[in-house]
Amino acid sequence: MSAPVTMPHVMPTYGRLPIALSHGVGAHVWDTEGRRYLDGLSGIAVNTLGHAHPTFVAALQDQVGKMIHCCNYYQVPLQEELASMLVARSGLTNVFFCNSGLEANEAALKIARKYGHDKGIARAEVVVFEKAFHGRSIATLSATGNPKVHAGFEPLVEGFVRVPLNDIAAIEEVARTRPNVTAVFLEVIQGEGGINPARAEYLQAVRRICDEQGWLLMLDEVQCGIGRTGKWFAHQWAGILPDVMPLAKGLGSGVPIGAVVCGPKAAEVLKPGNHGTTFGGNPLAMRAGVETLKIMEAEGLMANAAAVGEHLMAALRRELAGEAGVVEIRGQGLMIGIELDRPCGVILNRALDAGLLLSVTADKVVRLLPPLIFTTAQADELVAILVPLIRQFLAEPVPA
Ligand SMILES: *Cc1c(COP(=O)(O)O)cnc(C)c1O
Repeated sequence: MSAPVTMPHVMPTYGRLPIALSHGVGAHVWDTEGRRYLDGLSGIAVNTLGHAHPTFVAALQDQVGKMIHCCNYYQVPLQEELASMLVARSGLTNVFFCNSGLEANEAALKIARKYGHDKGIARAEVVVFEKAFHGRSIATLSATGNPKVHAGFEPLVEGFVRVPLNDIAAIEEVARTRPNVTAVFLEVIQGEGGINPARAEYLQAVRRICDEQGWLLMLDEVQCGIGRTGKWFAHQWAGILPDVMPLAKGLGSGVPIGAVVCGPKAAEVLKPGNHGTTFGGNPLAMRAGVETLKIMEAEGLMANAAAVGEHLMAALRRELAGEAGVVEIRGQGLMIGIELDRPCGVILNRALDAGLLLSVTADKVVRLLPPLIFTTAQADELVAILVPLIRQFLAEPVPA
């Protein structure tokens, strides 16, 4: 096992693993030494279609040859095309395009504040959650629940009220005591926080409270959206509609993109001049989004994510049954967390040595986010590599 490495002249903001990846095909990638890995991470839920998907590659090559960027001084037909696809699949009405998850969330937070101002609330507050992750800009890190993400960047942005997830009484208490609240902002399944799903009854209750209070329901689907759970959007399992839904990671299958999809209460809050971004909605990113959604549909990748996810979850539960150190295996579709009873960052390096890419988040949770093209055979391959590593890790004495 090797210590995290940094790269000369590159800011040391990441603890990197000691390999460099050169290329990939489907759910496999190769490093610069020629070693092959099974991709159980998809670049953190980004490579929806896996690597080098032939239809996707051809479409991007076509687009690069036509136009990469033109800016929003002009109409961009591909924005309309992708917006209409997202609207049709979400039941919402309008989309703002940007370039990343934090940017999508930043736009959502601006909508929550402007929505308040428009109805006479000068100091709008947004309800956010313990263990939430929303990004690393000053506003989105302030909305994030992890104190490690805050440390060193104080003063935080004000106007957030924090509550625990899945606690209806806590949010009812906020409704009784905080007249300036304008929105509730949560991940349907917390990703970085350790694969913590909001329960369906909880989401339904929050929807009802938002309606009673005139609050916006803003669901951060940056990680759990775009088919990963087996439906287009994770909240659809609960049968509710949000007012604001930030998207990013999987939407462009690797090309940087972000989007905020809004329903009627939120769609016209931002007026000309209120928001914008140079790169947002550029033709290359829009084409990547359009092709990602089309290919997902043509290849039945949502049904695949649901079926392979269920197979993977069942295999992990079966193989790890009776392991006292396994606290819980949870998630939905191809978004799975295995919580252990102790910090397990070392599993990341050991999996790498064994030819498997994954992540460990919230110290104790092994997180699996394979591409949506993952097959049951690949799921079995993943289980065959990972389960012995977890068993061996749990059999070792806990360091004092
Ligand atoms: C990754 C992530 C973000 C931040 O996205 P970036 O593209 O890294 O800025 C925000 N919210 C959630 C739920 C995420 O998983």
